[in-house]
Amino acid sequence: MNGLAGKTAVVTGAGSGIGRASAERFAEEGANVVVADIDEEGGRETVDAIEDAGGDATFVDIDVSDVESVEHMVDVAVDTYGGLDFAHNNAGILTGFAGVTDIDEDQWEQLIDINLKGVWACMKAELSVMEEQGGGAIVNTASESGLVGMGGLSSYSASKHGVVGLTKSVALEYASRGIRVNAIAPGPTKTNIQANSPDTDADPRSLPFDTSAMTDVPMDRVAEPEEMAGATVFLCSDDASYITGHTLPVDGGQAAD
Ligand code: NAD
Repeated sequence: MNGLAGKTAVVTGAGSGIGRASAERFAEEGANVVVADIDEEGGRETVDAIEDAGGDATFVDIDVSDVESVEHMVDVAVDTYGGLDFAHNNAGILTGFAGVTDIDEDQWEQLIDINLKGVWACMKAELSVMEEQGGGAIVNTASESGLVGMGGLSSYSASKHGVVGLTKSVALEYASRGIRVNAIAPGPTKTNIQANSPDTDADPRSLPFDTSAMTDVPMDRVAEPEEMAGATVFLCSDDASYITGHTLPVDGGQAAD
């Protein structure tokens, strides 16, 4: 894809699933990649996979909900590769399968801190470097549930609607400053998100809520993480040079239903 070779990307949540696929794809396109994750083992596996394939990657241990930790991630990109051109703010958890009155306050705060505040914190750190450099592109990972409501998953859906609103607003702030900001809205994707997230014993399909939007896909299959990576890298590439403030559903047709 155009305009990625020799540039530098940071990917959060790159130790697993969509983030790992995205980090690997940026590297395949010739970008240097900062692999950022709270899970050191997973992050290092991603770095090894990129290096084994001939790419260049560096691991940084971060918690996206911690502003200083995220600033450190951006410093590592600048110190190691001399700048920052692309960011995929993707780390997230899936908790809170419950009716709204049953959601625990701690669980609510943890989810919003990681899924929403984390995206803000990342953009805050990334934008100042990109602006100084004169340009860049950011992709945030929202969700299909950032576009439609989901009974039984209100906190997760609220966090992802927040990501969509944040993406649009920041895109407007930076549209005339050479920085594009978009989001992807994945449909159900084959990853370990439930196993990787705290307190997710409940199977959403066992709840007395309408979670059918999570499983009813017009294309009759769930996505591979690589399909999210393709959309992310496209949105960062020069091929998307006039696209900003957009949330791209990558969902096998769910958003059209
Ligand atoms: P995953 O669990 O495979 O990957 C998420 C990664 O984020 C993990 O490596 C985890 O260690 C990391 N992470 C979690 N908390 C973190 C923190 N505080 N700081 C840094 N890293 C942290 O899950 P995934 O499915 O690849 O999820 C990636 C993103 O895609 C999430 O934002 C998720 O909400 C979104 N999403 C996933 C699906 C799906 O069906 N898998 C659908 C829609 C949206």
